[in-house]
Amino acid sequence: MSSEVQYKVVVGLEIHVHLSTKSKMFCSCAVEFGQRPNSRVCPVCLGMPGVLPVMNKQALEYAVLVALALNCEIAGFTKWDRKSYYYPDLPKNYQISQYDLPLSTNGFIEIPLEKGQTKRIGIIRVHLEEDAGKNLHPAGNYSQVDLNRAGTPLMEIVTEPDMNSSAQVRALAVELQRMVRYLGVSEADMQKGQMRFEPNVNLIITKDGAEYKTPIAEIKNLNSFRALEKSVDYETQRQLDEFLQTGITMETGSKSTRGWDDQRQVTVLQREKEEAHDYRYFPDPDLVPVELKEQWLDDIRAGLCELPIKKQMRYVDQYKLSDYDAGVLTADRSNAEFFEQAIGAGVDPKRVCNLITQVGLKLANEAGCSLVELGLAAENVAELAKMIDAGQVSATAGNTIMREMVKTGKNPHVLAEELNLIQKSDAGELETIVDQVLAENPKAVEEVKSGGKKSKKARGFLLGQVMQKTKGQANPKVVSQILAGKLG
Ligand SMILES: [Zn+2]
Repeated sequence: MSSEVQYKVVVGLEIHVHLSTKSKMFCSCAVEFGQRPNSRVCPVCLGMPGVLPVMNKQALEYAVLVALALNCEIAGFTKWDRKSYYYPDLPKNYQISQYDLPLSTNGFIEIPLEKGQTKRIGIIRVHLEEDAGKNLHPAGNYSQVDLNRAGTPLMEIVTEPDMNSSAQVRALAVELQRMVRYLGVSEADMQKGQMRFEPNVNLIITKDGAEYKTPIAEIKNLNSFRALEKSVDYETQRQLDEFLQTGITMETGSKSTRGWDDQRQVTVLQREKEEAHDYRYFPDPDLVPVELKEQWLDDIRAGLCELPIKKQMRYVDQYKLSDYDAGVLTADRSNAEFFEQAIGAGVDPKRVCNLITQVGLKLANEAGCSLVELGLAAENVAELAKMIDAGQVSATAGNTIMREMVKTGKNPHVLAEELNLIQKSDAGELETIVDQVLAENPKAVEEVKSGGKKSKKARGFLLGQVMQKTKGQANPKVVSQILAGKLG
């Protein structure tokens, strides 16, 4: 007899984000990626005895701003704790973090799903800590330590286990990335390790009417959306297989930590946690607790902007753009602002969107820069959109002009003249050409008039002949009207 097995994957996520402050969390060393190893260090971040850390106010304000954007409750009183562990990239043998009084708790974020739907994911906490250094493993039987990264402000965001597919996990990660970029608190460049993910994955399985939960696996240190998505998918299948073979559950098994092998596309067991680690958390005696007074909080709140998901939904609602187009435009704040600047002049938003997505972003991508860095003037894009709408140039010619605008910086009217792309819309002039074409093609005229199967094709043929005679410069709308007038 076959047994009925159904399952649901349950995922919570921890996200670590570097904050883009000028200096480190507790000393004045510069936060700079890709510098000569151990050139951005001082006695504080090297963990020398007897030194005194001082909190970076900007880092705290950045983290609070994100917590506000995540609808969290902000603690009026927050403190720093020492998390003790030994590792070569952590010379002072403890990391300064926040344990029982984090700067914020209990928020939520909306993530986009398919077809314009959203889902609310709970946020357990946002807190601040410092990053460790980096162990380097060159060829040979030795390792090196680079402490440039040690002490970099690191924001940790912990979500509720509210996600039920790898696609949702990815959507959350993408949403957080564009949020911190919008807020200007992090570049969140994953190739530079500025954003890292640790999903907690397990399954709720229903078998023969009974419900089972598999042991939670935490996958460490993922630094791409792809690895995040793939590792959750892999872990889902692995836990299902393991349950079906051994019947292991949360009660009989234990929580484990796994790594992601990108080469083999598998998760690998690192350790099974018999009990929680004893990090011997205690308040850091060298750092004063932080009191966030109302006035200070208001000043930070002033840094909030319209968040990307809200913007995306507004574009669909207000400008009638597709969810896809709205997503492309809002992926980057400066692109969205450019778009809004261009449509400010009362132009059709869809027309401007097409010029930006079909030409602007492609050119930016080719040049390896942002749309804004192309140096396009938003007024010129607006002007061009107006010309297309008015039938002065065709949509295809519009794309050509857009490309030339990037190259030359000239305005679209000048370019349309120079490139000979102005459409002929003068009915009198076009009528003469239409008459010529009709006279030269009696068979096609016959077919249109007969109204038979070939009628539509013949009409298209005649329109094509007119376009050819005008070297593509006739306004097809006007030509169609003239043709309709003459042929019925
Ligand atoms: Zn330092």
